[in-house]
Amino acid sequence: MKTFKIFIFTLCTILSIPSYAKLNVITTTTNLKSLVERIGGDQVEVQSFCKGTQDPHYLEAKPSYMLKAAKADLLVSIGLELEVGWLPLIIRGSRNPKIQEGGSGSFVAGSFIETLEKPTGTISRADGDVHPEGNPHFLLDPQNAVIVAEKIKDKLSDMDHEHSKYFLENFKKFSNEINSKLEQWQKQIGKNRKVITYHKTLTYFFHRFGIKNIALLEPKPGIPPSAGHIMEVMKNAKKEGVQLALVENYFDPTVANRVAKDVTGLKVRLIPVSVEGEKDVPDIVQLYEKLVSVMEAK
Ligand SMILES: [Zn+2]
Repeated sequence: MKTFKIFIFTLCTILSIPSYAKLNVITTTTNLKSLVERIGGDQVEVQSFCKGTQDPHYLEAKPSYMLKAAKADLLVSIGLELEVGWLPLIIRGSRNPKIQEGGSGSFVAGSFIETLEKPTGTISRADGDVHPEGNPHFLLDPQNAVIVAEKIKDKLSDMDHEHSKYFLENFKKFSNEINSKLEQWQKQIGKNRKVITYHKTLTYFFHRFGIKNIALLEPKPGIPPSAGHIMEVMKNAKKEGVQLALVENYFDPTVANRVAKDVTGLKVRLIPVSVEGEKDVPDIVQLYEKLVSVMEAK
């Protein structure tokens, strides 16, 4: 009986290995997943820990994630302490030497980016969840997506030489697509646009397209707004004539709606900031299109 079981087990194992195994990639966010899919095409199998509707700062390090990580060839993360509260637990729990920091299957996108909002001086707990290496939401600048996509192309080519030409072609396609759209996107958005947001998620998008973020509903990262802070936001919004408040769709829009009641002409829009954050954003380019169209809507 025992031999028979071993025989069946071996047979199943042999049958489950395809002749040309795809790279098994895990990403921390859906924006990264979309980039890996763009470059890796049908030569990769990609899964993301964080859903597009979840806040990537806070995720539960579930045992099922550790099991997934245990089987991964490559782990693609944002870095800059975005995932600091949960990813190290998953990596440790996976016992997969490849994906440990510095391992052959570890890729940290943030290490290739010139970050914005890097705090100066000492940071204390009173400053909230500040990211000491700078703002980690860099993929919302389409040009940063191109920088990361190129590094992903290099990484995938290292791991699968046979398909390096294919990865390069996919990268060129992606980079051309972004570059051909940037000018049009800027035209759609227009100039001197002013907005309010909840968290500093869109900093890089605003930086790319010259949009001014007048006020943040969250006084400090991860800290909910006080009544005094809300009054301050209302005052600024009126003074600057802001007409649009953008709330990342995994945050509560209650405060934004309260501000909008007091500020004439201010509209609140709940927006996706990640791929798959809404049904019509299955891909990173569509996410940019969505954000541009929200900015365009008067
Ligand atoms: Zn953040």
